[in-house]
Amino acid sequence: MEWGLIGASTIASQFMIEAIRAQDGHSIASVHSSSAERGQAYAENHDIPQNTTDLAAIFSNPEIGAVYISTTNEKHKEEALAAISAGKHVMCEKPLAMSVADAIEMVNAARDAGLVFATNHHLRNAGSHLKIKELIQSGRIGTVQSMRIAHAVYLPKNLQGWRIDNASAGGGVIPDIVVHDADTVRFYLEEDPIQVTAVERSESMGQGVEDSVMSIWTMPSGVMIQTHESFTHQFATTGIEVYGTEGAIVAKNVMTQNPVGEITLINKEGNHPIEFSDHNLYNRSMSLFAQALKGTGQPSATGLDGIKSLAVAAAVKTAAVTGKAVDVDYGDLRT
Ligand code: NDP
Repeated sequence: MEWGLIGASTIASQFMIEAIRAQDGHSIASVHSSSAERGQAYAENHDIPQNTTDLAAIFSNPEIGAVYISTTNEKHKEEALAAISAGKHVMCEKPLAMSVADAIEMVNAARDAGLVFATNHHLRNAGSHLKIKELIQSGRIGTVQSMRIAHAVYLPKNLQGWRIDNASAGGGVIPDIVVHDADTVRFYLEEDPIQVTAVERSESMGQGVEDSVMSIWTMPSGVMIQTHESFTHQFATTGIEVYGTEGAIVAKNVMTQNPVGEITLINKEGNHPIEFSDHNLYNRSMSLFAQALKGTGQPSATGLDGIKSLAVAAAVKTAAVTGKAVDVDYGDLRT
């Protein structure tokens, strides 16, 4: 399978080029950048044979069977729809689009065309999160009562661009990080948040967009979720705590792109460190996508997962702006 990269991005450079090439028989044919100069330098740095400023050159290339979209968020929809029209499978970055309706349009188009469409939610691929889900689902902490997610980080200098000053490109911590937390909660509990309340702040980095948010979500089962996402916290650690009637799971430093962190299971017998796999998160995401291309199983996070994480983030934004509790609107989903 030959891939076209749409976006000369940091995430492709740091993780996804390697993840695509880690799959047997998968290689990268071309990269699209809006800048000829940047595209050429990017292609040279990453040994990509072609680069182009013309998206049609990727779509009309019959050798290219799939595209990885990692441009800024406002471009995902148009690029995905064009790729799907050209018969290309799509791995799309989160948030899928600027609105739930747009994301639904993208996912429906891929489905109608019989193409594989995935959302690149990396966390559910981590050995840590897979293990936490297994502990929850196998009843090791009894009935889940509540969860706290600490996902306040310090946005590295090289990423302090559109994320902190460009709302129309999809900037802000809510589209950037809340989507990942929503996906993680849905992955663990296998249910979708129904209502949220939130407060947001533009403390120091955000210019016209929020750089910090706290929110509370209610779940159909009654589980209570508390989350904190930020770009501005230099000294915070990340983590998830899941509390149940028979025990708790305390996971530290697991809201990350790397296979690191610690998990402790706490119950009547004491504190138990839990081992987990340290495989590469993005390689697993691509591996499941590659298998789905062969007709085996689903991508790790599907298009539907991307729609739902975006719907939660959209509700958090509305709740933060209005100061009111907001029902999560998953839109007009096809069943
Ligand atoms: P970048 O800012 O690195 O890249 C986004 C776009 O910015 C590129 O497509 C590129 O445009 C342009 N760009 C890159 N470098 C420069 C530069 N030096 N000067 C001017 N423009 C530049 O974004 P990220 O890689 O951080 O994010 C891209 C997407 O991936 C987003 O949707 C984001 O939400 C998602 N993401 C997902 C992660 C995950 O773990 N799933 C992690 C990080 C990001 P062009 O292509 O035209 O050259």
